[in-house]
Amino acid sequence: MLIATLLLLGATAQPEAIGGYAGGCLKNGMALPLSGPGYQVIRSKRLRYYGHPDLIDYLKGLASRTRMAGLPDLYIADLAMSRGGPFRSGHRSHQTGLDADIWFRMANQPIQRWEQDAPKEWALIDEPSYRVLPGRFGPQQLTLLRLAAQPAEVTRIFINPALKAEVCKRSPDEPWVGKLRPWVGHFSHFHVRLRCPAGSPDCQPQAPIPPGNGCGAELASWLKDKPQLPRVSVTYRNLPPLPRRCEG
Ligand SMILES: [Zn+2]
Repeated sequence: MLIATLLLLGATAQPEAIGGYAGGCLKNGMALPLSGPGYQVIRSKRLRYYGHPDLIDYLKGLASRTRMAGLPDLYIADLAMSRGGPFRSGHRSHQTGLDADIWFRMANQPIQRWEQDAPKEWALIDEPSYRVLPGRFGPQQLTLLRLAAQPAEVTRIFINPALKAEVCKRSPDEPWVGKLRPWVGHFSHFHVRLRCPAGSPDCQPQAPIPPGNGCGAELASWLKDKPQLPRVSVTYRNLPPLPRRCEG
């Protein structure tokens, strides 16, 4: 009886990412503490600071590595809601507790209380032209991207194409550069995506990234077309149905 109860407890407490990054949920996720060595969570009122334990460990580890590298503290924005699933606004993914947004703006001192809910966005890109604003993408931002992309559990980092082009110019041969995937938006932050964790049999992985550093034709087409974010905020009425296990 005791064993059965323990097994049951064990089974219910197992953290799981279920479904796809843009159509799934999170079971038994955990909260990222709102601040810790080397980071602070911003806009915590939104309650989007939950993730699979793999993501929480990753973020804490990243913050301690960036601190060791001499960078200021990180601003960590949206992860997932406590049980994952689609946000009502903002992004399509972030549903399984494996995605996190990290700002390029870093802080030498804790964010002021009054700024916590709406910290000043610190854009690196001029949107229509895709021009990188002078002085905004410096050695610290490159170090941050490098430390964020290197761990094996990171499958992709979504980044503005103009910033990918900067990395391609400065450091094209580093093996993590291929993980940087150009995407629309992302003027002031990048988005880290982790692979499906062990013990999440219903997590749907994404196709592997193409080989190479991605600095060639694909990036050139983004820079040529300069796709823009839609002016009106997108509502996600046509989201794919969630997996059965996410109901209830
Ligand atoms: Zn994101």
